[in-house]
Amino acid sequence: MIDQIETNLYKLELPLPENPLRSINCYLIKGPERFLLIDTGMNRKECLKEIHGDLRRLGVDLNNTDFFITHLHADHIGLVSKLATGNSRIYFNKIEAEHVKRQGFWKLAHPASLANGFPEKEINRFLEEHPSRCYGPRADIVFLLCANGDDIKIGDYSLSCIETPGHSPGHMCLYDANKKILFSGDHLLGDITPNISALGIWNNENPLMDYFRSLDRIYTLDVGMVLPGHGGLFNDHRQRIREIKRHHQMRLDEVVSMLKDRRSLTPYETASRMTWDINGKWTDFPVAQKWFATGEALAHLIFLRKRGIVNKEMLGGGWHYSHTSSRDTIKSGAEHDGM
Ligand SMILES: [Zn+2]
Repeated sequence: MIDQIETNLYKLELPLPENPLRSINCYLIKGPERFLLIDTGMNRKECLKEIHGDLRRLGVDLNNTDFFITHLHADHIGLVSKLATGNSRIYFNKIEAEHVKRQGFWKLAHPASLANGFPEKEINRFLEEHPSRCYGPRADIVFLLCANGDDIKIGDYSLSCIETPGHSPGHMCLYDANKKILFSGDHLLGDITPNISALGIWNNENPLMDYFRSLDRIYTLDVGMVLPGHGGLFNDHRQRIREIKRHHQMRLDEVVSMLKDRRSLTPYETASRMTWDINGKWTDFPVAQKWFATGEALAHLIFLRKRGIVNKEMLGGGWHYSHTSSRDTIKSGAEHDGM
């Protein structure tokens, strides 16, 4: 589905079958000589068919098209190896480009999931169907690496790369200061809270802290319109940032209070007791949702541990977290001065 947002700027909404996100937004900018496509959809036939149709209708020649990929997840990068030609530049961040080259990085999630309390039967089944395994890109993509502050010019758009780690370790947004437009990828979404997970595959030590810092970086920008990776466009990015921070503050409070009542919990057990926007009991959650929830619980536990509020110890082959009774007040750092 194509929506024209402004002159030479279009939103292409592609279906994500069997995925709770339902669809992904890619954005096309037309320049006088070249086109820029921001994100691509999953490497699966439904996305390919839809985007080929959309690009044809918009008169886009893939031989003259460059790509900017906000982050590594399969719904954003998956199709790039099917769409890019020998003439394409593919802008991407360094840290995640290395993961694409290595492929199979998701296998590292297996031992990490077990160590964080995930039952082996469930994790085996989930990793068989992991989207990065099924719908990711090929390994041999040649990327043009970009970093914070780099500019990409296309027609009358002048886009600055902004590093926003948290949802993924190398996540990047694009910002046009003149037009006050932010392409936010999955860093800032209007309809759902981006998943912040610490499960498995990354070296970054405290993704929730990274995420808060990245929210602060975006908060200071003058933004008139946010174009997110999923869901509808929205305007007030500062209000949304405050809402998302409040959400994480509530999660942190919830985790602390549940640990105060018990000796210790694994991240999986913590996740099973947290409040989620999914109908039904934890035991009925699809295994993918349990995996994302456990990763999110772990991100919150790591954040609290770095603040000295919880302890971590290895018990019976798995990590257990407990409350540090000497610290009763939460200084989470989630609060923003402007809140
Ligand atoms: Zn996404």
